[in-house]
Amino acid sequence: MLKLNNYIDGTLKTPHSGTYLDNIHPATGKVYSLIADSTEEDIHQAVRAAQTAFPSWSGLSLKERHNYLLRISQLIASKSKALAKAESKDNGKPLWLAEQVDIPRAVDNFEFFATSILHFSSESHQMPGRAINYTLRKPLGVVGCISPWNLPLYLFSWKIAPALAAGNTVVAKPSEITPMTAYLLAEICIEAELPPGVLNIVFGSGLKAGDPLVRHPDVKAISFTGGTATGRHIAQVAAPMFKKLSLELGGKNPNIIFEDCDYDRMLKVTLRSSFANQGQICLCGSRIFIERPIYERFKRDFVEQTASMMVGDPNDPNVHLGAIVSEQHLEKILSYIELAREEGGRILTGGKRVYPAGELKGGYYLRPTIIEGLDYHCRTNQEEIFGPVVTITPFDTEAEVLAMANSTPYGLSATIWTNDLARAHRLAEDIESGIVWINSWLLRDLRTPFGGTKQSGVGREGGMEVLRFFTEPKNVCVAY
Ligand code: NDP
Repeated sequence: MLKLNNYIDGTLKTPHSGTYLDNIHPATGKVYSLIADSTEEDIHQAVRAAQTAFPSWSGLSLKERHNYLLRISQLIASKSKALAKAESKDNGKPLWLAEQVDIPRAVDNFEFFATSILHFSSESHQMPGRAINYTLRKPLGVVGCISPWNLPLYLFSWKIAPALAAGNTVVAKPSEITPMTAYLLAEICIEAELPPGVLNIVFGSGLKAGDPLVRHPDVKAISFTGGTATGRHIAQVAAPMFKKLSLELGGKNPNIIFEDCDYDRMLKVTLRSSFANQGQICLCGSRIFIERPIYERFKRDFVEQTASMMVGDPNDPNVHLGAIVSEQHLEKILSYIELAREEGGRILTGGKRVYPAGELKGGYYLRPTIIEGLDYHCRTNQEEIFGPVVTITPFDTEAEVLAMANSTPYGLSATIWTNDLARAHRLAEDIESGIVWINSWLLRDLRTPFGGTKQSGVGREGGMEVLRFFTEPKNVCVAY
């Protein structure tokens, strides 16, 4: 069985523990590869390699770093079919989704930051007749990147590419649940002849490999995407060490639908924003608020179209939803459906596990689920479920829906459907979230600031924001 070994100092290395964790194929529930069960020793080794590589990597010209990152982007593009297959197998998502979204975005991430570093500039501040200040921006040194399982290579590369572009060297840990494309990225870096130690990828659990990475005194910054509870823990560990922190955390995003919207377009996109990637996208709109005059119409159409969605074999091009990422996560989602029932919710469609025939019968499949009749304050409407489960709630006024939208501890993204321009802008200003989509969802421009407020995170990724995060500003004041 394939063993995923760590990529440290330019080569693949067995973990110090000598032990491996099972990597499960969510579509069948069977173990299909083994992952290095890394510990503090492996993290130490990776950080040492990154420290050794830092002076020469940060000393390269921008054009030289650009060339390395572009080469990696091109190699990902040239292997996109195999990478999409690997991503779908590791995560359970439909193959077509990995082909259309995950892998093209990983290509774009490396290409975008390879290029944006060439355009990155710092400021100067004049004191007329007296002095000029200019800001130097230097890479931080060794940085840690920790990513989740829902969009594995997409989010892994979203962190690694800007960190490297800015001149840092990196120790990265993908989720133990979806390590495969990170391993294939290691092979790509070897093929691209990325200098040893510039990027190090350490596999293993959050507790045994992630935690020592956060605690390591020579790791200057942590860029983390994952759950809010893990983010809180990381902040507690890193803050006393004065590390720079970027935390991209959970969400409970509102999807607000007004009567005057473009109905057909809204319905089509709402099906996606509810259930794409089995609802396992931090930006999915899990709380749908509908203006009362169109509530019944929306309910009828949305339930009908959801009930006709196909759930099953991720390799089937007609399938809408593949497998949930793990048995543990499926159990968590099912427990929230049970909670919704206890809280008085009515399951309008879904709510049940699916057992396909043949080899797939041990996989983790769940029908997309719509729930109505819940108060917006209840736990089902306040806590992140992170699965194909949405609630629908009618509203009467703009003020009422704004209060409901802002009622959770989260503030990642929001979607507003309306053709009233003034209302759209007004709500966008008042909604407590880092990202607002008006009449669209997941329309991404990589130059824009990406991140959440409240318990959805601290800091912003994307564009120049992330290059600022991965560099330290220093003001130099020159008196005339
Ligand atoms: P987790 O928080 O469980 O894990 C995220 C990563 O952190 C994994 O690599 C995990 O390792 C690692 N980790 C776990 N514990 C520690 C620790 N103590 N120290 C260091 N690292 C640790 O999140 P999930 O993987 O379950 O991802 C789902 C969550 O991610 C959802 O809440 C979702 O909303 C959020 N998310 C947020 C996004 C955003 O941009 N805001 C985007 C995508 C997802 P391992 O898996 O090996 O245990």
